[in-house]
Amino acid sequence: MKLIIGYLYGDLMNIYGDTGNIIALKKRCEWRGIDVVVKNIAIGTKLSKGDIDLFFFGGGQDQQQELVAKDLEESAKGKVIKSEVERGIPLLSVCGGYQLLGEYYQPHKGPRLPGIGLFDTYTLAGDKRMIGNIVIESMFGKLVGFETRSGKTYLKKEAFPLGLVKKGFGNNGKDRTEGCLYKNAIGCYMHGSLLPKNPKLADWLLKKALEVKYSEDIKLEPIDDILENQAHKSAQERS
Ligand code: GLN
Repeated sequence: MKLIIGYLYGDLMNIYGDTGNIIALKKRCEWRGIDVVVKNIAIGTKLSKGDIDLFFFGGGQDQQQELVAKDLEESAKGKVIKSEVERGIPLLSVCGGYQLLGEYYQPHKGPRLPGIGLFDTYTLAGDKRMIGNIVIESMFGKLVGFETRSGKTYLKKEAFPLGLVKKGFGNNGKDRTEGCLYKNAIGCYMHGSLLPKNPKLADWLLKKALEVKYSEDIKLEPIDDILENQAHKSAQERS
């Protein structure tokens, strides 16, 4: 089996350890003998249906987000990503990437950045940074991560949260929701990186990607996640 991971704007949107998610996905494929290729989808890169089996979109500061929002709109990559998610292609987005997948992100200064409208959400820059460990309860059980940003994301009527905050801020520090889940696409504020400490979520993304690609039920070979689970437990205890 072969898997192509699309790192959306990996040269620009990769802060707070988010590339660790790509490393985790790659290693969990290699440990199972699954061939894996990581493609950076940069500004100016053409993106077509079927090119990518699993998308990752990391965090970035307002300046990078402005460049990326423009490319998503002008290059029609946003439309391709939306239609790929509609047919079940999995996607994980974190923070700045997550913000650009909603209706819009309004930074502190400058124009409102249009999102691609994948998630029924919108984001407003907050007046203080939300920083710290986060623990949420989700369909994957407890997920642990680290938050650092000012943006506050609000779920509109069609949006479904990834989970509920046990410790930390979540989407906006008010409504106790964290992230957004739509089909096999996830948005969240969980840097850390997220996947090395949440192996169940990593494998869910890989399973969904392989099932869509090969149109069959996939049973991933179990991995001894002793280190991952220790990291998960200690992150939870630190929160
Ligand atoms: N610039 C955005 C904010 O501050 C996203 C930052 C990030 O990706 N950590 O909310």
